[in-house]
Amino acid sequence: MSALDFLPWQTEVARHWLASRERFAHAWLIHGQPGIGQLEFATAGAASLLCETPRSGLACGHCQACRWVLAGNHPDLRRIRPDGVALQEGTAGSDSDDAAGKKQPSREIRIEQVRSLLPWFNTATHRGGWRVALLYPAESMNTIAANALLKILEEPPAHTVFLLSAQAPDRLLPTLVSRCRRLPLALPPQPEALAWLEGQGVDQAAVRLAAAGGAPLLALQQARAGNAATPAWLDVFLDLARQAGPSAALADVLAGMDAADWVDGFQRLWLDLGLGVHGLPPRYYPDQAPRIRALARALDPALLARTASWLLEQQRLSRHALNPKLLADHAAQVLLRSMRPMRPVGPANHRPDAPRAGSA
Ligand SMILES: [Zn+2]
Repeated sequence: MSALDFLPWQTEVARHWLASRERFAHAWLIHGQPGIGQLEFATAGAASLLCETPRSGLACGHCQACRWVLAGNHPDLRRIRPDGVALQEGTAGSDSDDAAGKKQPSREIRIEQVRSLLPWFNTATHRGGWRVALLYPAESMNTIAANALLKILEEPPAHTVFLLSAQAPDRLLPTLVSRCRRLPLALPPQPEALAWLEGQGVDQAAVRLAAAGGAPLLALQQARAGNAATPAWLDVFLDLARQAGPSAALADVLAGMDAADWVDGFQRLWLDLGLGVHGLPPRYYPDQAPRIRALARALDPALLARTASWLLEQQRLSRHALNPKLLADHAAQVLLRSMRPMRPVGPANHRPDAPRAGSA
């Protein structure tokens, strides 16, 4: 993946978006669910806007501007992201001088970073082209920084485009959102996402893609992190649920994860269990179909629905979890408790897949 290229499922959207450069809005909020490539879209969008000889609106890859973007030193491109993100990219120090030497790199975009753009607006651009500020993840702007950006957008500097990449635009300052044109990105079609993921050399690509809710970059990230195609939390949960085991082992696994991640995972599993209650195959964890079906057969649908609501509530709370360990302990208990069978499973029970003859 080069910084110049759009992902295959984004190319058409990008062409449409870039087609009307003369009437281009000065601020865009590019958003979509995690792992579908909103930052990649914004990055390739910046390159395309800066390119001197774009092809059907997209970066050519050969001109001086494209070479600068690839080398990470185009004078008309600024990346505004938390120091912690810059550090992960291995680019700290390039335009966040105080990142080095700090013990804990910031997870926020700070007001100084937004203010540091002000002198830049007064410099001439290369060949009178665009100036592009890439801001990501936009959610990491604290309120003060967001207000500073809002002030800039109220009187936008000439020749300047702001590209804000976000996964949860509902967490942004509403007045800021209202100053941006929204560009929502959709989940890629499954065959396209799968072909791309396989092209990255990922094993068990279909299983991983399903477990990532169809988000190919998330699946790739999981694979590159060395995680098993079947997530550990799922394996532990399905085992404990089957034998009504104690919740401590599950709590341990969850405590080691980002709360938002396991909440997402369980929401997907709950959908699969709901499908299983109706005798339908799982959507997110197809490789676990036998275990999910066996569990779903005996579940109490009302209890399942209550726990689904509980998970929805956790999705909101998990962003501000004060004590992840405590949340993990509690969640492990709630989730396993809701797996208690409504009725004992035996040959006398009605089962969706039981043979009709003689079953009554
Ligand atoms: Zn070019």
